[in-house]
Amino acid sequence: MPDPVLATPTVSLIRGDGIGPEIADATLKVLAAAGARVAWDEVPAGLGAFEAEKDPLPGRTLESIRRHRVALKGPLGTPIGEGFRSVNVALRQTFDLYANVRPARTIAGVPARYPQVDLVVVRENTEDLYAGVEHYVDPRRSAAESIAIITRYGSTRIAEYAFELARREGRKKISVVHKANILKLSNGLFLECAREVARRYPDIQCEELIVDSCCMKLVLDPSRFDVILTMNMFGDILSDLTAGLIGGLGVAPAANIGVDAALFEAVHGTAPDIAGKGLANPTALMLSACLMLDYLHQEEAAARLRKAIYGALAEPASRTRDLGGQANTVQFTQAILRALA
Ligand code: NAD
Repeated sequence: MPDPVLATPTVSLIRGDGIGPEIADATLKVLAAAGARVAWDEVPAGLGAFEAEKDPLPGRTLESIRRHRVALKGPLGTPIGEGFRSVNVALRQTFDLYANVRPARTIAGVPARYPQVDLVVVRENTEDLYAGVEHYVDPRRSAAESIAIITRYGSTRIAEYAFELARREGRKKISVVHKANILKLSNGLFLECAREVARRYPDIQCEELIVDSCCMKLVLDPSRFDVILTMNMFGDILSDLTAGLIGGLGVAPAANIGVDAALFEAVHGTAPDIAGKGLANPTALMLSACLMLDYLHQEEAAARLRKAIYGALAEPASRTRDLGGQANTVQFTQAILRALA
């Protein structure tokens, strides 16, 4: 039997829409140069797949992820207010990728509002308002309702994931973020489950914060946060906020973890305003690929790649425009490749 640590795993690759193909190309190059052992199975999804084959999530894409259990994905476009449902949400629900892990860490040299941010948002990824229970309540379509579904099972397992992550990463504090003062049943249940799990981890400090107060505290002093544990919608919003604290969406990675599969992607979307111009910052997808390498037990390649990315970001001349630099995607990628040579 091959040694699972030394074997070359196959990973499903979805290049994505908008800036997706540009940042995916850059990421594949630096992964190879860092010595990552990965074979790719490229499959379609998103707006591109919808235009080409009238299906935003073709069966062979699902089959590929089911077989290989690990995927790297560029951003996928979702029509706003109409059209097909989000493929991102469909992938998370199909593979029960219940933990969305979004680290936000200050990167030396990258212009940011705060010198010292090192936190992780752990977002429940399958329930809440994203469960897809939405309809018009009258035939004239003059009123609509969306239902947030929160379960004891989903809340308990994401809380356990967050506390285990804290222990594994040597983190000291969990902030449970909710709106249980208003949403007493759904958010109240989430909070109750988090409290029950917290009792089993006396070594980790646990605080409770109402989401609005959490936003203010994050903006005033993000260094007081360590792990933020929250539900799907708040986690989506808070993780863009925390990306903004460390330099923006261009540098914010993410992992979607389930029991049987994991999918790695940037926090950002397809960036239609800069798509096709060669200006995108590929850092977020590259750092997501580093999280993937950690998951695949290729920590050495991950460390090598992170070091090269941080080195390129520390040089003002190699930074992309979103970080105040002048470099384009290719020039930034070349700076990383030089460091890896
Ligand atoms: P966005 O994240 O695509 O863009 C927001 C802003 O950040 C834009 O100004 C963009 O130029 C900038 N930006 C984002 N990533 C960047 C990068 N790597 N380098 C430089 N600048 C970058 O958000 P949006 O415009 O609200 O969404 C566009 C589309 O993306 C929508 O269809 C949305 O549904 C989709 N989306 C997909 C995902 C995903 O695939 N996981 C996540 C969020 C949004």
